[in-house]
Amino acid sequence: MTDKPIAPSGEPTITCAACFNEVPLSAAFTPEGAEYVGHFCGIECYQQFLAEAKRRGEGTPGGGA
Ligand SMILES: [Zn+2]
Repeated sequence: MTDKPIAPSGEPTITCAACFNEVPLSAAFTPEGAEYVGHFCGIECYQQFLAEAKRRGEGTPGGGA
């Protein structure tokens, strides 16, 4: 068994939807009123997630890499 070095004192944590790191909920970036709802380490991860989602959802027809 390995204890994860997450926040002490039972602080709730979330998993970043972009890099899958665990971050304290209080420190998480949560976009409000966004098309994609999730928790992120910060704005950078959020933008990365958006770019990824766009690529999947609005990929060029024909299926290029
Ligand atoms: Zn992240």
